[in-house]
Amino acid sequence: MRLVFLGPPGAGKGTQVKILSRILGLPSMSTGDVFRAEIASGSELGRLAQSYMERGELVPDDIVIKIVEKWLKERGVRNGFILDGYPRNVRQARELDELLKDLGVELTAAIYIDVPEDEIVRRLSGRLTCKSCGAVYHIAFNPPKEDLKCNLCGSELYQREDDREDVVRRRFHVYMENTRPVLDYYRKAGKLLIVNGLGGIEEVSERILKELRGRFAKFSDGSFRANG
Ligand code: ADP
Ligand code: ADP
Ligand code: ZN
Repeated sequence: MRLVFLGPPGAGKGTQVKILSRILGLPSMSTGDVFRAEIASGSELGRLAQSYMERGELVPDDIVIKIVEKWLKERGVRNGFILDGYPRNVRQARELDELLKDLGVELTAAIYIDVPEDEIVRRLSGRLTCKSCGAVYHIAFNPPKEDLKCNLCGSELYQREDDREDVVRRRFHVYMENTRPVLDYYRKAGKLLIVNGLGGIEEVSERILKELRGRFAKFSDGSFRANG
């Protein structure tokens, strides 16, 4: 399966993609994680991305598209993948379709995690992110076992610069303007799956898997094929 995850900042895309990538055995990539790693390493790309991210703006398409293209070509697209945080506007969605077409495959589905705005604010204000592996936690809803330490790698957890209230507001606006229209793009293509993102983390994962199972029959080797 070749999947992309959509939804407002804080909807739970990163959380779900990391879980589903393990369950479905698919490689996944988060463009936000790639940029944060570049910033941490002090690279040229990191410095450039940071200037947009700290304002809650989108990093220019040409840069993002190149990163996604490189990753997809290196991984190979035949055995499937999951993208988190891409596409974020209609141009990025079109570019992905073009790229996959050139590689002889098609996107399977776009999964939209639907969460209302007041819940988003609660989630982002308590989000904690691992400095080294990018794992996500929440102070109240998904606390780490040990205070401010990552369960997976033991590194320090921090609050993202762009989870500050003023930047969150800006990211919402950018989401409504740029990313909402992507829903229509995938709806028209018959690829949109909408999942209710409220409830526990496992509950949401189950809902996504159920949606996918409803649409795709599973082969014994674990791969999926469209029903009917
Ligand atoms: P969230 O899912 O919480 O909104 P991400 O980690 O996905 O946050 O993204 C953080 C920031 O990285 C975005 O606000 C944006 O500046 C940049 N970014 C990530 N993905 C993209 C993309 N596909 N196009 C442009 N900018 C992106
Ligand atoms: P996104 O990638 O869409 O920005 P994240 O996966 O980073 O979202 O989740 C945002 C915050 O909400 C994190 O602190 C995460 O632990 C928390 N979270 C994710 N899913 C749920 C859920 N189902 N219920 C409560 N909190 C959640
Ligand atoms: Zn970690």
